[in-house]
Amino acid sequence: SGLTPDATTTAVCGYCSTGCGLRIHLREDEAIGLTPETNYPVNLGMACPKGWEALRVLDSDDRATHPLIKNPNGGFSKATWDDALRLFTDRFKSIQAEHGKQSVAFLSTGQIPSEEMAFLGALAKFGMGMVHGDGNTRQCMATAVTAYKESFGFDAPPYTYDDFEQSDCMVFVGANPCIGHPILWERVLRNKNNPEIIVLDPRRTETAMAASQHLQLSPKSDLALLYAITGEIIRRGYVDDSFVQASTTGFEQLCEHVAKFDTESVAKISGVSEEQIIKAAEAIGTGNAVSLWWTMGVNQSYEGTRTAQAIINIALITGNIGRPGTGANSITGQCNAMGSRLWSNTTNLIGHHRFEDADDRAKVACELDIDIESIPTETGWSYDRIMEGIQNDEIKGLWVIATNPAHSWIHQSNAREILDKLDFLVVQDMYSSTETARHADLVLPAAAWGEKEGTFINSERRYSLLKKVAKAPGEALSDFNIFRAVAHYWGVAEMFSQWTDPEAAFRIMQRLSEDKPSDITGIDGYEHLDDCGGIQWPWTSADAKQWAKPYQQRRLFSDSVFHHDDGKAKLIIDDITPMPEPTCDDYPTMLLTGRGAVSQWHTQTRTSKSPVLRKLYPNEPYIEIHPDDARSIGVQNGEQVRVTSRRGSLIANAMVVPTVKPKQAFMPMHYEATNQLTLSHFDPHSRQPSYKNSAVRIEAV
Ligand code: SF4
Repeated sequence: SGLTPDATTTAVCGYCSTGCGLRIHLREDEAIGLTPETNYPVNLGMACPKGWEALRVLDSDDRATHPLIKNPNGGFSKATWDDALRLFTDRFKSIQAEHGKQSVAFLSTGQIPSEEMAFLGALAKFGMGMVHGDGNTRQCMATAVTAYKESFGFDAPPYTYDDFEQSDCMVFVGANPCIGHPILWERVLRNKNNPEIIVLDPRRTETAMAASQHLQLSPKSDLALLYAITGEIIRRGYVDDSFVQASTTGFEQLCEHVAKFDTESVAKISGVSEEQIIKAAEAIGTGNAVSLWWTMGVNQSYEGTRTAQAIINIALITGNIGRPGTGANSITGQCNAMGSRLWSNTTNLIGHHRFEDADDRAKVACELDIDIESIPTETGWSYDRIMEGIQNDEIKGLWVIATNPAHSWIHQSNAREILDKLDFLVVQDMYSSTETARHADLVLPAAAWGEKEGTFINSERRYSLLKKVAKAPGEALSDFNIFRAVAHYWGVAEMFSQWTDPEAAFRIMQRLSEDKPSDITGIDGYEHLDDCGGIQWPWTSADAKQWAKPYQQRRLFSDSVFHHDDGKAKLIIDDITPMPEPTCDDYPTMLLTGRGAVSQWHTQTRTSKSPVLRKLYPNEPYIEIHPDDARSIGVQNGEQVRVTSRRGSLIANAMVVPTVKPKQAFMPMHYEATNQLTLSHFDPHSRQPSYKNSAVRIEAV
């Protein structure tokens, strides 16, 4: 800015789950610039372009600055907060009176602080009587959550980022950290053990190019391939027998099951040679500290949960858990995906309790000082079921907070028709221009990262502080204050009188966490978090007494005790599921989707506002296709192609590259058009959409 700062403070970045510390330079308490924090245990002085540009995107013409009410012409009129919240309350209450309490639902996010998520979840379900609510974390982390819960007995990613530097063998499955988590990849590059790096991915991604072994498998042959690798590990005698005996159940069934996946047959299915399968099994079997990492290539699949558990099984049978450089490690996506998992009051009763458990409901009622009858006795619907409920007229009102389903939900034209069916749609967002806001009846203007306080929880379970370093524009309010105002207008302010500010909410969360594996009762408030560069859960009051300062790096299961009643982890297996939409003569190409560039984030709601970031990726949608396919349809690099699936059709620029295999193509998810093509299909256990396997036809224009 050219100004000289008069102070600095540190805050956690608000994009991805890495959770980098950023040093914010202030002048008269307002941010005028930032640099990566050098003393922060996560990023050690590094940041990716999104982090560097975090302040720039706050200042944009399409920030939501006033409440907006849809007028009869289909446009929006500015409104006062009083008018907006009266409308919000009148419309939602009248829908509930006519159609029942369950007819109004909410969709939240992994992008707001934990305190706001907890407040929203408590307000919506306990205060407003909503039964159904879910978050956009269903699109990214639901599979990992389900897999961990079933295998470990708790949703517990076991690792710490130091493990990237301490492994001697790393396996990345459906993960491209070079692009998706660039600072974590920098941590890999700091590893001094000359690690073996094995990548399982149908594309030759940037990470695959840097790997020592790339298993370029056919799309969705990952589960069979992981079972074949497991079989080789067992046959070659690399099982840690004492660990398996003492700390797992289901080993015999696992052995029987993987015996069905002989290496020769799986080599044919997967397109990975027998030699490559054996070489990977050898590297894993002989490694001293093996870590296995996965992201959306696994999670966003119709058999994602079982695939994640096949990864977990490998870590368990080789005893690669609870020690430095090990683990079966899901890397989360959004800055606060973990906060959503613990605090959103959607898939779990707030604080990882169970709606169905009377004791848990009693504990939550007591800690929140609310009537136990206000707590639902069942878990609400998942995101896809909420969308189906709208389609079937079971849900008539929807409150969407900091997410953009009209762009990001699978099978987009269907999703938009569904949103238009609603009697009343409220969108609460920092921008009034999102694809979803265009469908809204009411837009509530929200403050952004940097304009409010709270905590994010990163992939390695670290609670870190974000801080108010800028003023929200116009009349925009923090989500926390919007929830306070909603409570007042709804007539339940008294019920939420404890929720005075984010730190008060954090104290409530601490009490709710007591005696859970994610206990944080030992954290002494926000200042303590700030002093320590964030604190990983668990951090109990007993920990606080024993240690002067929290461990900087803390991994789970070092005692080999898991969270099932018998203290053991479960080795979970399943049959292979047929691909829901295989290619055929009419749609001969398999479309893969994923992150495109380091500088893009999700639906580009924020990153498109930075002129710097926009220069770092193509502004028009593009599709990666193999040179053989380009030749056969007569298309040169950069020329337009039409891409058609059974659900929609779009124009994109051809990027002709050998990094995808023939009859496969890749489109980044960041472009609005991409989900016109995707298939509405879900993992049956996690209800996560299967974004990465849609059959398409590609033609010259
Ligand atoms: Fe922010 Fe993630 Fe980039 Fe770090 S890697 S600066 S947390 S977007």
